[in-house]
Amino acid sequence: MKAYQVVENGKPLKEMELETPVPKGKEVLIKTISCGVCHSDVHILDGYFDLGGGAQLPTPVNDPLTMGHEIFGEVVAIGDEVSNVSIGERYVAYPWIGCGNCELCDSDKTHYCMNNSNLGINVSGGYGDHVLVPGEQYLFAAGDTPDSLAGSYACRGLTAYSALKKAEPFTTDNSLVIISAGGLGLLALKIARAAYGINPIVMDIDDDKLKIAKDLGASHVINSASEDAAAKLTELTGGGAKAIVDFVGAEASVNFGYNNLTRGGIQVVVGLFGGQITIPLPIHTLTEKRLLGSYVGSLGEMKELMTLVAEGKIEPVKVESRNASEANRTLEEMKAGKLVGLVSLTHD
Ligand SMILES: [Zn+2]
Ligand SMILES: [Zn+2]
Repeated sequence: MKAYQVVENGKPLKEMELETPVPKGKEVLIKTISCGVCHSDVHILDGYFDLGGGAQLPTPVNDPLTMGHEIFGEVVAIGDEVSNVSIGERYVAYPWIGCGNCELCDSDKTHYCMNNSNLGINVSGGYGDHVLVPGEQYLFAAGDTPDSLAGSYACRGLTAYSALKKAEPFTTDNSLVIISAGGLGLLALKIARAAYGINPIVMDIDDDKLKIAKDLGASHVINSASEDAAAKLTELTGGGAKAIVDFVGAEASVNFGYNNLTRGGIQVVVGLFGGQITIPLPIHTLTEKRLLGSYVGSLGEMKELMTLVAEGKIEPVKVESRNASEANRTLEEMKAGKLVGLVSLTHD
């Protein structure tokens, strides 16, 4: 099999010829049809996250790694303990796989397990033309979803779905605010409409992106760089936002969101732009505001999301398909902020 691997942090991926794995027991081997390129891939390749103030969170790669955690593929071989999936079927793989034998894994929190084998993060993923999935419970049908989009529900789609759920949105349109009209923000807008039947307020600093959000069903759009952004949000939400999902995660966006939450309001930070914030603690206590981080989602949430996806309830977003040989160019463009929308890789 062929795979594009991180051999050294900060250097281009290398094309490698590897032994194709043979599934044993509960394992399923899939041939990659398409694999989304996620912004986390840029951080994995770089080997660090920006913590603000010049500090970095190092995430070095020790052994060569085949990245790619947004995997959609066709089953080509199964172990002898696999009973519910068959050769030729096509699935999205849930990549956030825990040890299967701890309190977290026993309570649908495999994505928090420290002893994990996450596909494309610390074990081989979809930048290879075959992927070994450790069990059929991690595979989900995607209905009529375009091949190029399906895998992206395993990370970006799931991230948006889980963050929206954590924000506990009310049932009225203006009760939910989405910060960012970029790819993930627009995906969240569509999921909010499908899963909760609400049209959120969308904020961004780019008027062109805000126009797209409005066309896709945002109840209102606000340019967060405008002077009256806070006043406008206060007016639309009747005194402060009840639920905010921030897909930027920069100091400015998190501060803005926190300062504009109502009492008991929930702000979920998803974006990994980086930086630091300071919160006056008595205000935090007196207002009972909740500031949560959210990273991907649980297997149970994946099941809920993929039910909506397979039933065709979530309107597909556009994805550009490229050959895996263009992985390096794609990662460079993503790092430079030059990619508009989602990109996925094929191995044909
Ligand atoms: Zn575990
Ligand atoms: Zn991802």
